[in-house]
Amino acid sequence: MADTTQLSVAVIGGGPGGYAAAFLAADLGLKVTLIDPEINPGGVCLYRGCIPSKALLHVAKLIDESRHASNWGIEYADPKIDLPRLRSWKEGVVKKLTGGLGILSKQRKVEYIQGKAAFENSNTLHITRSNGTENSQTFDRIIIATGSRPSIIPSLKLETPRMMDSTSALDLSEVPGTLLVIGGGYIGLELGTVYAALGCKVSVVEMLSGLLPGADRDLVLPLHKRLEKGFDSILLNTTVAAVKEEPNGIRVTFDGPEVKEREKVFDKVLVSVGRKPNSEIPGLDKTQVKIGPRGFIQVNKQLQTDDPAIYAIGDVVGEPMLAHKASHEGRTAAEAIAGHKVAFEPNAIPAVVFTDPEIAWCGLTETLAQKDNREIKVAKFPWAASGRALTIDRTEGMTKLIIDPQTERVLGVGIVGAGAGELIAEGVLAIEMGALAKDVALTIHPHPTLSETVMNSAEVFFGTATDIYRPKRP
Ligand SMILES: Cc1cc2nc3c(=O)[nH]c(=O)nc-3n(C[C@H](O)[C@H](O)[C@H](O)COP(=O)(O)OP(=O)(O)OC[C@H]3O[C@@H](n4cnc5c(N)ncnc54)[C@H](O)[C@@H]3O)c2cc1C
Repeated sequence: MADTTQLSVAVIGGGPGGYAAAFLAADLGLKVTLIDPEINPGGVCLYRGCIPSKALLHVAKLIDESRHASNWGIEYADPKIDLPRLRSWKEGVVKKLTGGLGILSKQRKVEYIQGKAAFENSNTLHITRSNGTENSQTFDRIIIATGSRPSIIPSLKLETPRMMDSTSALDLSEVPGTLLVIGGGYIGLELGTVYAALGCKVSVVEMLSGLLPGADRDLVLPLHKRLEKGFDSILLNTTVAAVKEEPNGIRVTFDGPEVKEREKVFDKVLVSVGRKPNSEIPGLDKTQVKIGPRGFIQVNKQLQTDDPAIYAIGDVVGEPMLAHKASHEGRTAAEAIAGHKVAFEPNAIPAVVFTDPEIAWCGLTETLAQKDNREIKVAKFPWAASGRALTIDRTEGMTKLIIDPQTERVLGVGIVGAGAGELIAEGVLAIEMGALAKDVALTIHPHPTLSETVMNSAEVFFGTATDIYRPKRP
């Protein structure tokens, strides 16, 4: 292996992709500089994405549970919400995590620069520090980890605090009386869930025929049913034609075949219609980096761009735009630069929607199999037959395995139900290990747990599930 210990590496962007790359590169003995505008590493995920949203969703779940407790003979008074304390708790979580990353960065002797980077050429960055000083620095390798930002629809752009994106929605400046969420993707539904739990009347509008486009419909159905109760309305096959600010709110004009009320006024509107890669880095045109039609930087399996000195990872290189994909790519890029023989070629990247119920899937989905005309067998286990689901009063869930009929290999796993996001890891491991349905069926799972439903769905495939009456093989 060539001696790489003398190499200097700059990482642009301190999100889960960038800091993972920087920290591992330092651990591998490289000289690392990490550049990000925030005071500490963390990126979108820690400052205005995964972490603050999950902190608030935890509180939303608690409020929701307290409301359901009357089913179990426990009556709680309506919750009193102290918004400044809730905000400061959420901010405290973010501060602890990002502060911890700052310490880890120092311990590894990563040079952390609070500022922004632009390219002068393939090896030289122009760095503008947050304190106003500027300089140029040359590196042997540069990793671009600049992430993504919320997409904006020009016709829905109004300069008013009543129009929010995910970042301002997470700031939680107030709980409006009514909120329209434009976009039925995971970010809109998660934030809608938070606001609904805090007492806001939430409506969602989605231009396609179902929520969470891309996810299997049988996984979405239990969530849709529950959201119908928790949200004021869910408008499908509907677009927002116009938004206009008025003294008492935003007047929204809807368009679509199922529209009953063409115009409605909302206190606030959250636009959550996807994310765009941050690939417009100043000076990138002075390198050989190529950008694809959707704005993603093109990379090979080592995450190397068309410019041999430059690597790129995370949201800026493509879907799925998820933190765990970014950090694994970051690790691969660091190892590739250090001269290791590595490639980023996962068989399964899990996706989790942290609503209530949660939805999680990995590997092949039924939707994709149908699109590709691929023959599959699907084995489903309903949570109504799970003892654990009954004890927590959440029997609407379902676990399914997508199986290759010839080899009986597990190709995909889909779960809807409380805690699905924790359960899906077993599916990812099964797929990565090339597990057969038999392996899953023969793996003894602890009782009573929801994890049993993964084993039970494999038993359904063989017609040997004893907790339901369906003895025939599907
Ligand atoms: C509300 C919300 C909830 C989410 N929830 C989840 C979740 O539950 N699970 C999950 O897996 N994903 C979630 N995501 C997505 C996740 O946040 C991203 O996939 C992840 O942060 C991408 O990591 P990254 O390292 O590619 O970049 P980012 O985290 O986007 O970080 C990029 C960093 O680069 C900096 N930067 C940009 N340009 C420059 C420059 N020129 N110089 C220096 N620095 C620059 C940016 O300021 C930023 O700090 C969520 C996103 C949002 C918005």
